[in-house]
Amino acid sequence: MASVRLENLSRKAGNTVIIDNISFTVPKGEFWVLVGPSGCGKSTILRTIAGLETATSGNIYIGEALVNHIPARNRDVAMVFQNYALYPHMSVAENLAFGLKMRQTNPIKIKERVETVARSLNIDRLLDRKPKQLSGGQQQRVALGRAIAREPQVFLLDEPLSNLDAQLRDDTRAELKQLHSSLNITTIYVTHDQIEAMTLADQIIVLNRGQIQQIGTPNTIYHHP
Ligand code: ADP
Ligand code: ADP
Repeated sequence: MASVRLENLSRKAGNTVIIDNISFTVPKGEFWVLVGPSGCGKSTILRTIAGLETATSGNIYIGEALVNHIPARNRDVAMVFQNYALYPHMSVAENLAFGLKMRQTNPIKIKERVETVARSLNIDRLLDRKPKQLSGGQQQRVALGRAIAREPQVFLLDEPLSNLDAQLRDDTRAELKQLHSSLNITTIYVTHDQIEAMTLADQIIVLNRGQIQQIGTPNTIYHHP
């Protein structure tokens, strides 16, 4: 586990300012949530931390390490998207094992880790299936499992529940909370959903037009006297 620190981070695309001089530090093990209107830069912040986009200026630290110039595959970060983005030709087990295989983990360790992750997400009966044989909720659990299987330092989630129906969203949200309290992995989570922000966040960052408007606990942010 490691902290994540953004220092005066900006990103421009042509003349458009997408993120505007943002600074914050997520202490290791905490769960922070980014909220704000569509287009305010939430996804761009996550993608920049993951190394999928580059900042125009400013610094990103993971733990003590400055990662600005470290390519995505060498950052110890896992990201989960709204669309599950599983590998369709691979079984659930192969999807879960993918990141570990890429890192040349020993096969016995891979098997153990896949089984542990599958049990913790309640997908252990599905290991031989292909993604298209799974429901949306099951697919998103596999995506979460694939992301955490290699025990990354940082976990980034971009509206991971928004394609699920209401009941599944409630269940998966509770599982996510459980997963976070057992792993204590530093997490940054983007959502539009106030209930998700309230139940999951240690701290909430409210963004508007690429800038931080407010940072606070769920009670501070959503308490309107
Ligand atoms: P959010 O996740 O809060 O909805 P995004 O980070 O996806 O916001 O996008 C922030 C803004 O930046 C949006 O207005 C989007 O259209 C714009 N944007 C994102 N990427 C680019 C790009 N490569 N070129 C121009 N504009 C972009
Ligand atoms: P590399 O740096 O290894 O060439 P890419 O640039 O293709 O990798 O992407 C970096 C990482 O982000 C990879 O692990 C890839 O799986 C993941 N990734 C990129 N875009 C998506 C997406 N739309 N959905 C799911 N994962 C993605």
